[in-house]
Amino acid sequence: MDNRLDKFLMRKSNRKLVFSAIHKKGSISRVQIANMTHMSLMTVGRIVDELVNIGIVVEEDSNDMTATLGRRPKLLHVASNNFLSVGVEIDRDGIYAGIINLQGKVLKKMEQKYNCSGQTAEIVLKKVGEIIKQILSENPELPVIQAVGVACPGLIDDGVIRFSSQMKWTDVPAVEIIQKYTGINDIFIDNEVKAHGMAEDMFGLAKGYRNSVVLTMGSGIGSSILINHKLYRGRLNMAGEIGHICINPSGNMCECGKRGCLQTYMADWAILREARMVQEDITLDGVFEAYTEGKVWAVSLIDRVMEYLSITVSILANTYSPDIIILCGRLLEDHVVFRDLVESRYRGATKDYMLDTFRVQVSDLGPDGTVVGAGTLAYYNMLDKIL
Ligand SMILES: [Zn+2]
Repeated sequence: MDNRLDKFLMRKSNRKLVFSAIHKKGSISRVQIANMTHMSLMTVGRIVDELVNIGIVVEEDSNDMTATLGRRPKLLHVASNNFLSVGVEIDRDGIYAGIINLQGKVLKKMEQKYNCSGQTAEIVLKKVGEIIKQILSENPELPVIQAVGVACPGLIDDGVIRFSSQMKWTDVPAVEIIQKYTGINDIFIDNEVKAHGMAEDMFGLAKGYRNSVVLTMGSGIGSSILINHKLYRGRLNMAGEIGHICINPSGNMCECGKRGCLQTYMADWAILREARMVQEDITLDGVFEAYTEGKVWAVSLIDRVMEYLSITVSILANTYSPDIIILCGRLLEDHVVFRDLVESRYRGATKDYMLDTFRVQVSDLGPDGTVVGAGTLAYYNMLDKIL
């Protein structure tokens, strides 16, 4: 055993523990950290001093007036706005970027509508590079660390987009390409639902739960699974690709080239494909309007989507038994009718013993959830280096 290595790893893990306690509690004293982490007050003190020196934690006098007799304890906070990262979401219809602080708040936003899925990866990633440079140069007053997280649909592993059926890209060395166009070294890329899962765990509805699942519905259907606050990635980061589970061998063709995938019943384009059999140029808004008006074809179509959603929730609940399933994605964010429907009817097919063991909620991070996740991805990696 290498004793020095052990000591180094132990110190690193203690620093992470202390930082995480401060981050979680929002405001905490040295004594409280020592009680929480079972470390000695001296060790906690040494680590806190290190974190204050790095500039990631600040220590302030407490406002607690009840403590006037003794010395008022100083309270520690994360210096949220000293440590900002850039998060970028690549979606089929555009590129969305934001500067994110350590509380998951989006301080600045930029978006560029663009038909990403109709372009080669090189062209889109060059645009991503331009947007990153632009958001940084337009906000020189913000102390952004030079770290960028990118979230994209598809199978992504080790900086490479192995396969994205939505974008029609294969084996794209994405990190390398974005580094080339930005000159920034610390670029991190992950699947967009996994990035969203990180955001939910750090700042969203999953915060208070050990095990959570995020299910996204939009131009694709995907999920991410967090077990004990850690992403379950599986081999090659492929876990969670629920949209391509075959649920009907003789069903519709999917964009991945297989037949009867779950997303061919639930993705926005699948809903439109069916609706346009009836009304050629209808939009999704039009479909939900027709549903609200009680048009028979629209009711039948949306009822079917709801049925498959219930089945999906049931599959996830039975497979992972999470504390919470969080629903997100543009189908829910852009269509209030659908969102209300989902909240009232998701349990349709789960009338089984699982029924009361988990909660289902629509994400409250809104349309920025994935951008926040991408930013989280960046500083997660940077914290790992710094701490
Ligand atoms: Zn498929």
